Amino acid sequence: MTTSGDGGFTPSRNLRHLQPSATIAVTQEASRRRAAGENIIDLSAGEPDFATPRPIAERGIRAIQDGKTHYPPNNGILDLRAAVARHLSVLSGGRPVNADNIVVSTGAKQALFNTCFVLFGPNDAVLIPSPAWVSYPQMVHLARGEPVLVPGDPEFGLKVSVKDLEAATDANTRGVLLCSPNNPTGAVYTHGELRAIVEWTAKRDLWLIADEIYRLIHFAPGPAPSVLDLPDELLGRVVVIYGVSKTYAMTGWRIGFALAPPEVAKSIAALQSHVTSGASHPAQFAAAAAFGDERVERDVHRMVERFGRRREMVVSYFREHLPGMEFVEPLGAFYFFFRADSCFHGDVQDAVAFCQRLIVDEGVALVPGEAFGDARWVRLSFAASEGDIGEALVRIARFINGLLQVKEAAAAGAARG
Ligand code: PMP
Ligand code: GLU
Repeated sequence: MTTSGDGGFTPSRNLRHLQPSATIAVTQEASRRRAAGENIIDLSAGEPDFATPRPIAERGIRAIQDGKTHYPPNNGILDLRAAVARHLSVLSGGRPVNADNIVVSTGAKQALFNTCFVLFGPNDAVLIPSPAWVSYPQMVHLARGEPVLVPGDPEFGLKVSVKDLEAATDANTRGVLLCSPNNPTGAVYTHGELRAIVEWTAKRDLWLIADEIYRLIHFAPGPAPSVLDLPDELLGRVVVIYGVSKTYAMTGWRIGFALAPPEVAKSIAALQSHVTSGASHPAQFAAAAAFGDERVERDVHRMVERFGRRREMVVSYFREHLPGMEFVEPLGAFYFFFRADSCFHGDVQDAVAFCQRLIVDEGVALVPGEAFGDARWVRLSFAASEGDIGEALVRIARFINGLLQVKEAAAAGAARG
């Protein structure tokens, strides 16, 4: 046994496509620089900067004190599954939601991975509207399926239509992985758009995984439209992913959910029983306290209001100070996705180089679009304080205007010959 050298390690074929999470990597780089004394503003992480609401945290503490520190039920405690079922039912106008069809996992990330792993296998193609959150293609690869990125329409908030999905479909297509409100764009599919997509997946016998983790972070009245607003007969092949990490500022508690047809839920639970067992027991009690408590609802309302104000800050700053830059106007989640290639020049020829220069020159951490499938775009997370966002915007504008000036000067020089 040696703890040095690689011991001749060749990764198994399971890892053929594996790349570490690029979003997490940027966040770690920002933390490293900050620890080294650099003045870094980190707008990379998709993580609320608020504390977990008190009633939730207190319930978690009480669960520990009450000795809820042993193995939990594999598919989740009934208190939590029933609370989520009620919550999702209320959000969608009282539709029935069966707690038995919900599996609690270690974050929405594990819920998504479990779902991909039970639904897809070798040669199965899975359509992923792009840009897409960094982990979706990886999860499909880990299930040995083939992710097929379907580019969204820039005229349509980078969303996809049934026509786009249809054009990418072939005999191997087994499913679609849709995220709304979207990470990284903040775009939100309307009721009509969701219905058209679900009618199409149902007609084609495809699975639809609907990642609705940002459903309550919506900058229009009410929760964002959901596939759960649609009639039951359309949902026979739909799995809804939901979670507490974002809305309830609970990223570190690691609780997420899959709501799936009964046989799929059973398979997800069976898979999980061999991989992690049930999610953290005290965290499940804490998460149950997130639902149906007015104090928590008030906190969520306040947090969403703050996200809305920050969104306004970013959008209006870009409009005023960077008028040529294209962006998606976010209607949900806490991301702002802008197109940066108009200022690419010299060493900066893609978003990775853009973000590397930005962190070195101006100390602002953003995530390059490569992480989401498009090297022309950059993601800014506005889940940060107004002070940090305001200062970061000034630095970003200075950086972009600097790049543009150099580019224009070079072009003028070339024109003069
Ligand atoms: N889905 C999307 C779209 C996300 O942005 C995230 C955030 N990491 C997740 C799922 C995973 O959430 P969790 O932290 O609950 O695992
Ligand atoms: N989902 C968040 C993000 O996109 C957290 C990081 C991650 O899990 O990838 O930044």
